[in-house]
Amino acid sequence: MDIAPTPVPTRTSGAAPALAAPHAAAGAGVPGRWREVARAANLLDAEGTVAPTVFATMSALATRTGAINLGQGFPDTDGPASLLEDAVAAIRGGVNQYPPGRGIPVLREAIAEHQRRFYGLDVDPETEVLVTAGATEALAAALMALVSPGDEVVVLEPYYDAYAASIELAGATRRTVPLRFPEYTLEPGALAAAVGPRTRLILLNTPHNPTGHVLSETELAEVARVAREHDLLVVTDEVYEHLVFDGRRHVPLATLPGMAERTLTISSAGKTFSVTGWKIGWVHGPAELVEAVITVKQFLTYVNGAPFQPAVANALRLPEEHFAEVARRMQAGRDLLTEGLLEAGFTVSRPGGTYFVVADAAPLGYDDGMALCLDLPRLAGVVGVPVRVFHDDQAAGASLVRFAVCKRPEVLAEAARRLRTLTRS
Ligand code: PMP
Ligand code: GLN
Repeated sequence: MDIAPTPVPTRTSGAAPALAAPHAAAGAGVPGRWREVARAANLLDAEGTVAPTVFATMSALATRTGAINLGQGFPDTDGPASLLEDAVAAIRGGVNQYPPGRGIPVLREAIAEHQRRFYGLDVDPETEVLVTAGATEALAAALMALVSPGDEVVVLEPYYDAYAASIELAGATRRTVPLRFPEYTLEPGALAAAVGPRTRLILLNTPHNPTGHVLSETELAEVARVAREHDLLVVTDEVYEHLVFDGRRHVPLATLPGMAERTLTISSAGKTFSVTGWKIGWVHGPAELVEAVITVKQFLTYVNGAPFQPAVANALRLPEEHFAEVARRMQAGRDLLTEGLLEAGFTVSRPGGTYFVVADAAPLGYDDGMALCLDLPRLAGVVGVPVRVFHDDQAAGASLVRFAVCKRPEVLAEAARRLRTLTRS
């Protein structure tokens, strides 16, 4: 069975493996705001050393040790053959120069069509869609465009690390709303409690990374109610929109009453089509909000990924069965890994979607998820991501580990087998 690169490491020393090389040592006299950005994204340790993102760190650890990488969320198979062929054909066909600033028309039309086909949303491809360098750029540009220094941004916690960094880059402050293991539900009133006079917008994410929580209709209605009541904009990151399980369907926040006019919806081809390295994302919403975002975006990357754009346009028009199949595959991965983690002695949160499963290592005697993740290659030949780095409340995520399920079944089965050999610390 070929599950390379995954030999069980033979190293037997008790020391945790070294992290990826830090970007900067304490006291390095480099000026600027980069240190504040690192601090905001929980990358700065007590000695002032700045680490790379937890995803880069854990992928480097997996590469170095040969452990199965269930850390950074990327699939180990490529997207649909037609998508790959279309990109190759576009390159060979000469689609290699700058595309238009908003993205090629055929992709903007396909995005609008997709939003109508799946959600009944009415989107004008001319004025209400912008193609970006992944969802990451859409998020950064939206925050920089719509938030002023001193503003507050309300965000669910745990939060994806790029949110913290982008909020900081915009000069704003995050106010967090707790989602807590294992249910990760939004408590009634919790969102409203985080809104204050300086709140400018809500940054939502459903299906949610790292928890896998898919907001229910009741939770979404609460978000919409608070946004309307306080006249807030909402930026909603829906990159896992097609990875929803158990017969449920994704509900974009923009479909709720009164929300389309105050919501920017972000998604990306990376997750849906298993091409995370292509970085074709998009944002849509009211024309004047998209105009604001493009004003910033044009000075970040200007444009990107010309030959990938027509390929993604075609993929967005694939039959519905293709999208259902991806969700089924991911759900099977969730079930396989969840079973293994439970048998290994973890407590597991049952995600409703995404690439991820969160497990609590405390029942196995591991109270420090970061220490466990650093030692997991030696202990079990597997890499995960400590959830603590996505929390302000360090106690809330202390012993939690996020594992990616976007891998081939044989890889997940082998990871589960290895994790079952974990003994109590
Ligand atoms: N948002 C979330 C919630 C993510 O998990 C990720 C990681 N793929 C991104 C945004 C970034 O997406 P992209 O790779 O398209 O920039
Ligand atoms: N979104 C990916 C994850 O959550 C990571 C992407 C990245 O490394 N920035 O695993």
